[in-house]
Amino acid sequence: MSSDPNCIFCKIVAGQIPARKVHEDEDLIAFHDIHPWAPVHVLVIPKLHIATLSDAGPEHEALLGRMLGLAPRLMRELGVTNGFRTLVNTGKDGGQEVYHLHMHVMGGPRPWARG
Ligand code: 5GP
Ligand code: ZN
Repeated sequence: MSSDPNCIFCKIVAGQIPARKVHEDEDLIAFHDIHPWAPVHVLVIPKLHIATLSDAGPEHEALLGRMLGLAPRLMRELGVTNGFRTLVNTGKDGGQEVYHLHMHVMGGPRPWARG
């Protein structure tokens, strides 16, 4: 399934619900988290609906690499100069709330609200 009509992040990919996008290319989008933990908190997601990191297979390795590779570029563009945190929550015990694979990228001066 490349897209799930009930998935909130698929709706953001499709432009059906708004998001403050900071990046879009053929395979990925990135947008500000609606409840930021840090002064800068964005989510990097594949356009393809992959529910969790556990559902990613070898065919997705390049995509996963591109998600990680985008993080430092986005942080630079958003003015983060002193380091940042990347986080992927996976499944119930991983604390995942939205079942469309996403990577949190958080930065900016501390203290942070969380994390
Ligand atoms: P998880 O716990 O699944 O790793 O994180 C899901 C994240 O998505 C949370 O940080 C939450 O604030 C964010 N989020 C959930 N719904 C929306 C939304 O509709 N728009 C945006 N921009 N972020 C969302
Ligand atoms: Zn989805």
